[in-house]
Amino acid sequence: MIRFILDDEQEQKVRDWQKSHECPFRMKDGSRRGGSFGDIETYSFTPTSIGIVATVKCACGSEIDVTGEL
Ligand SMILES: [Zn+2]
Repeated sequence: MIRFILDDEQEQKVRDWQKSHECPFRMKDGSRRGGSFGDIETYSFTPTSIGIVATVKCACGSEIDVTGEL
């Protein structure tokens, strides 16, 4: 089994970013605008020789690196 997880600190970073980045797909409180966009974020986990690089990308183009301790 291969599992990719975000720990609490990483999850908090994502939640802060959801609220703070300028986004046409979100309301000011970070919730999604309407329901017709489906999943607007892409979570990427890239295994490297030093660990797993985790990034989250929004449909608006904004991206955050939430890689934890490697
Ligand atoms: Zn966005």
